[in-house]
Amino acid sequence: MASPLPLVAGTFCFGAYITFAFPMANRYDYIIVGQGISGTLLSWELHQAGQRVLVYDDARPHTASRTAAGIINPVSGRRFELAWLYDTIFPEAQGTYRALEAALGIACFHPRDIWSVWPSAQMRDAFGEAAGNGQAAPYMEQPSSARHGNELLQPFGAGIVKGANVQLGALLPAWRAALQSREQLREERFDVRALELLPDGVAYKGLQAKAVIFCEGVESPANPYFGGLKFLPNKGEALVVEVPGFETPDIIKKSITLVPLEGCTYWAGASFSWDYPDAAPTETARASLESSLLELLKVPFSVKGHIAAVRPSGMDRRPFVGMHPKYPQVGIFNGMGSKGCSLAPWAAAQFRRQLLEGAPMRPEIDIKRYFNALR
Ligand SMILES: Cc1cc2nc3c(=O)[nH]c(=O)nc-3n(C[C@H](O)[C@H](O)[C@H](O)COP(=O)(O)OP(=O)(O)OC[C@H]3O[C@@H](n4cnc5c(N)ncnc54)[C@H](O)[C@@H]3O)c2cc1C
Repeated sequence: MASPLPLVAGTFCFGAYITFAFPMANRYDYIIVGQGISGTLLSWELHQAGQRVLVYDDARPHTASRTAAGIINPVSGRRFELAWLYDTIFPEAQGTYRALEAALGIACFHPRDIWSVWPSAQMRDAFGEAAGNGQAAPYMEQPSSARHGNELLQPFGAGIVKGANVQLGALLPAWRAALQSREQLREERFDVRALELLPDGVAYKGLQAKAVIFCEGVESPANPYFGGLKFLPNKGEALVVEVPGFETPDIIKKSITLVPLEGCTYWAGASFSWDYPDAAPTETARASLESSLLELLKVPFSVKGHIAAVRPSGMDRRPFVGMHPKYPQVGIFNGMGSKGCSLAPWAAAQFRRQLLEGAPMRPEIDIKRYFNALR
């Protein structure tokens, strides 16, 4: 494949001139584009390893990370199967969020029971089987007593899944403020057309770095370096609802999921659509979410907000991680799909080990699997 953008012609002399021309203050190890959960975790990992990072984020309001509930759920599907690599991914995620909490002086990681309301007798039986001898059994429990009997319609009963919730509304701004305090955040759009490739790194508007790594979420399919990756984005919508008199630390899950925000307020979502004209909230999704709430709640609720965003998913539902095979100074960290909160800490650690120690990465997330498409 020809260079997607004009390259800067480089010679040894030119490289030496560039090195001389960029004062230390304008030199970084890594430029990271995007500060959603992906850019946050990757810049944190690299910073912790002593790398000088500069993060660009244009602060648009309706991104996936600013819309997500931050649920970490160990099981998925109608058979309550254990999520991919969960036994590896969850401890890495927990350790990373705890370290971020300590460094930033915030509370953002909350282990929570997911009160899983069975919609049918079949689902009740499937839960019983998985909790008895399935791979996810360590994360599942038959409750010793009923919960939420006054508020929830649960004719088939409910089980407990041991999950967690990452409060992205606390984590993202706190890491942003930490970057800002070190002058390592630029609140502006990164223009890929102004990126210059050098023999030993990249240059961008008077700055130089060893590499640039794009964590742009749904913007990446339009990135000329990564058009060959097979993205399959999908849209999700959620409501913010108030349920007067109902306060619980549990996540409630049926065909809709309630995540506690503050007091009697809950995030309630989410819809899922492959086919959408834009990322704006729709009346259709709102009606469907409200109807799911009516099937779950015995008590009245009121809608306080309606949010929507597009999930940056890949066709094979695995993250896109790695440096471009032809342009090794340009990388990507993306494709977190609907599991950014659990996957991003582990995937960021994998990427950091590869970048700094040359350690091999899990092949399922390495963009080498798309090597031919990118050449
Ligand atoms: C309704 C909904 C509910 C969800 N619930 C959950 C959940 O409960 N648990 C879970 O784990 N995941 C959930 N997800 C998925 C999760 O949101 C994503 O996996 C994750 O947020 C992706 O993060 P990201 O950082 O890769 O992308 P994004 O969040 O899209 O971040 C990309 C960032 O890059 C910036 N950017 C892009 N291009 C540029 C540029 N050129 N210059 C400067 N800045 C740029 C954007 O402004 C943005 O801040 C949900 C998603 C949706 C839509």
